[in-house]
Amino acid sequence: DRLLGGFAKTSDRLTGNIAGLLGGAARLTEDQLDDLEDALILSDLGPRAAARIRERLAATRFDNGVDEAAIRAAVAEEIAAILRPVAKPLDVTAFPRPHVVLVIGVNGSGKTTTIAKLAHLFQEQDYAVMLAAGDTFRAAAIGQLGVWADRLGVPIIKGPEGGDPASVVFDAVKAATDKGTDALIVDTAGRLQNKRELMDELAKIRRVLGRLNPAAPHDVVLVLDATNGQNALAQIEVFREVAGVTGLVMTKLDGTARGGVLVAAAEQYGLPIHAIGVGETIDDLRPFDPDLVARVIA
Ligand code: GDP
Repeated sequence: DRLLGGFAKTSDRLTGNIAGLLGGAARLTEDQLDDLEDALILSDLGPRAAARIRERLAATRFDNGVDEAAIRAAVAEEIAAILRPVAKPLDVTAFPRPHVVLVIGVNGSGKTTTIAKLAHLFQEQDYAVMLAAGDTFRAAAIGQLGVWADRLGVPIIKGPEGGDPASVVFDAVKAATDKGTDALIVDTAGRLQNKRELMDELAKIRRVLGRLNPAAPHDVVLVLDATNGQNALAQIEVFREVAGVTGLVMTKLDGTARGGVLVAAAEQYGLPIHAIGVGETIDDLRPFDPDLVARVIA
């Protein structure tokens, strides 16, 4: 699907393994339901979503007979039903300005790229954007975010490498408030290896933000790499505890058949999914369209 870049289908796995798929019968057999459930789990949808879809398909009458296309359509509909409640674009209209979006995630997840893509999206919506380089732990992170900021023509507030992220955030909110900036996007360190330190660091950032504006951060967006499969789910678990996640962006859905992890995340956590990443360029952030994504996964 062009809209989703190279976002690949899991469907061959989905229907290819179902035994004896001959047209005619109006219902799936128990064996076929078992095969389907296994295929859904193998496609990263997770046991809960797989069981739910199995149950729904067990109750489905296929008036034109069971075949690949009919199963695919039925699975897509069930996936869409799981995804629709969590589809929610980021809304950066909080007042007073700025609306603060804290972006979290492990290194390599696509956090920096996603921040640039979000900045670009907000610019297209005519919002004035500012970035804060709150990952002071990695000099490369500050540099890379700076390159994107220059390219986009977006101001960026930085501190020294190894400096206090909370003080960068403090300066950034001050600057954004003075300039009347609409949306402030804050990068953070992704050092999950050192959970205690990261937790303290994020807590301090939140305290500083809250002192300047009790409603901030307005969003805490966790960036997840879809190619990590089930590991992405484990990251939701940890970051919910460490940072109080309010929504997700799933990256690297291009060229992978691991879109099923979106369904598992929706079923298990119910967190809003704001957007998906389907490539490395600034335009490769897509709104999360549950029906389209469901059709691609199925
Ligand atoms: P960070 O360490 O979490 O800040 O990750 P980066 O933003 O630096 O991204 C890590 C790598 O993943 C880079 O090579 C990015 O170009 C790439 N990347 C980020 N998002 C996507 C995506 O949606 N699709 C693909 N194919 N690559 C991505």
